[in-house]
Amino acid sequence: MTDTATRQDGPGPVLRLQDLHVHYEVRTGQGFGQVPLKAVDGVDLQIRPGECLGLVGESGCGKSSLAQAVMGLVPATSGVIELDGRTDWDRSAATRLARARTVQMVFQDPFSSLNPRQSIATSLGGPLRLHGVTNRSERADRVAEMLRKVGLNPDAARRYPHEFSGGQRQRICIARALIVDPKLVVCDEPVSALDVSIRAQIINLLLQLKDELGVALLMISHDLGVVEHMSDRIAVMYLGRIVEEGAWNAIFSDPAHPYTRTLISAIPDPERADIGHERLRGEAPSALAPPPGCAFHPRCTQAFAPCREGAVPAFTRLAEDHRARCHLLTKDTESR
Ligand code: SF4
Repeated sequence: MTDTATRQDGPGPVLRLQDLHVHYEVRTGQGFGQVPLKAVDGVDLQIRPGECLGLVGESGCGKSSLAQAVMGLVPATSGVIELDGRTDWDRSAATRLARARTVQMVFQDPFSSLNPRQSIATSLGGPLRLHGVTNRSERADRVAEMLRKVGLNPDAARRYPHEFSGGQRQRICIARALIVDPKLVVCDEPVSALDVSIRAQIINLLLQLKDELGVALLMISHDLGVVEHMSDRIAVMYLGRIVEEGAWNAIFSDPAHPYTRTLISAIPDPERADIGHERLRGEAPSALAPPPGCAFHPRCTQAFAPCREGAVPAFTRLAEDHRARCHLLTKDTESR
């Protein structure tokens, strides 16, 4: 049985991570040579076709390293990355091409994501040519169709990135990611560089395209409020580990981990007063020297001795589709 909170009925996962580790060697600058930084430290996750998984955590928690490992942009130190049933993702050109057809990415900054010297037709037509999705005569039609799908006039194909606003550029980046019919799109903070007034439009567009095209989304954000309305499931990450994972309604109606509760409290919403207002204390510790026991203990208002002195909390399964790592969840059992 897999150690994730995903139900096992229906089609197989489009992405399955099993005990994924991504470690870097980092120079400390203090004469001690290199020390390991465990950016991703044993993550199990699954995403099913057509599903949106929101991956949430503060800056530096490892979510972007996880995304980059899924994309093949950084090597996994150990563990399994299964994409569309395949795990043999080596560095050969053919394999990298197949991987890029399976999983595409939308980046945070739409300004640097597009080549300023390429027309939109070239930017969107390039992946079609590379992956042999259409022949030359069909390419312009496919580009026009994709631009329409993201809410732009097909005439945009003749123009250049500098002629568009930030929101329009992000629409173009989304079109470029989806034009090769990937199974999964990794969206790394796709609205955080955009004006607040257009964030909802881009989120709604992603949701609409997910439903229309049946593509799965891995939606990464430091802000739980951003993924709240689009995620079927949510995984909360802290210092390289998933600390809570579950169906959207389970996370919001019954958050089990104190860190999750602080993230929910940070969303301005008076209707959530019953969850309490647990503020996040201090800064996240460095991943170069994570605290022993529960890595969240220096910031947790409910920490008790085992959190500081005991083992890393194991997952407790709270429901079929909900699990969390916190000693409080097993406190009564442990003290018996
Ligand atoms: Fe807080 Fe302890 Fe639970 Fe960690 S294990 S979240 S420190 S109560």
